[in-house]
Amino acid sequence: MTIRLGLVGVGKIAHDQHIPAIKASPDYELVCTASRQGSVEGIPAYTSIEAMLDGEQVDAVALCQPPHVRYDAAKLAIEAGKHVFLEKPPGTTQAEVVALADLARERGVTLFASWHSRYGAAMDAARDWLAATTVHGIQAVWKEDVRVWHPGQEWLWEQGALGVFDPGINALSVLTALLPRPFFLRDAVLEYPANRHAPIAADLTYTDATGLPIGATFDFRQPGPHNWDVHAQTEAGTMLLAKGGNELWIDGELKTTEPEAEYRGLYARFAGLIRDGGAVDADTVPLAHVADAFMKGRRVTVEDFHY
Ligand code: NAP
Repeated sequence: MTIRLGLVGVGKIAHDQHIPAIKASPDYELVCTASRQGSVEGIPAYTSIEAMLDGEQVDAVALCQPPHVRYDAAKLAIEAGKHVFLEKPPGTTQAEVVALADLARERGVTLFASWHSRYGAAMDAARDWLAATTVHGIQAVWKEDVRVWHPGQEWLWEQGALGVFDPGINALSVLTALLPRPFFLRDAVLEYPANRHAPIAADLTYTDATGLPIGATFDFRQPGPHNWDVHAQTEAGTMLLAKGGNELWIDGELKTTEPEAEYRGLYARFAGLIRDGGAVDADTVPLAHVADAFMKGRRVTVEDFHY
């Protein structure tokens, strides 16, 4: 069965990743879009999800708008009996995502909270390698130029938005998938531009029940090439999981060569959940870590940020 899909919020990530992945998949037919301005050539375009659900027969929707408008759109789609793919972060609060997951179970439709970095080409190899040794410490470093990766995206800085945690939550999705035990925050420093409601940088110190040192550093002010890396010091040597989960290096030697295919993996998973009769996959742990950092973090004011 081909899944008739409606794409909602046709912006940067929809064009960069969703549309190519959907077109490459035998599981889907992209039948329409809902976006105030964006559209896909040759596909019926609606300006709201309400109009799209009224006007088209779709089985599923992929929600690619910023997170603060996602709950309302997801609820509407679930209540209309549609399967729902949520871009990351799945919402602006953990509780709203849990409520959506309950609603999806009640209605027998799939809710998939996607975490694209968990579908990095080297993730399984890195998890297996770490599981086979003793880990002494692990740190995620996610640094990028916000002007390159989020050009002009004012929504990123509004109250309730995640600021640097918007990419940083990818690092947390990777750490939570790599490590065998839950970890928790000990200390956090969040840097807020004086003219913004969301942090531009964060330094986070975690540990787990064994006392493992775990760190994460996020920064939006990195000019030039970005870093989306996890470094681990272990009994068996040093590990670098680079390119957001896509390359595994052990003691400086590249160990994986599979091509990056995160969004193809996400769409294959979504199709599998739908075929499983409307299964729900909505892990909110990375979002809980963001909430903890906002709750416990020391707030430092830094210079204004302008695009
Ligand atoms: P974006 O281009 O700013 O937003 C996507 C689209 O959503 C916009 O083009 C806009 O389309 C619609 N939109 C924007 N503000 C809206 C609002 N207030 N109400 C309703 N619709 C709105 O952002 P993006 O970079 O694609 O990011 C969207 C999501 O994908 C975020 O959660 C982000 O974390 C995630 N993501 C982004 C990246 C990346 O590299 N940028 C990578 C992976 C995941 P219309 O104006 O046509 O309605």
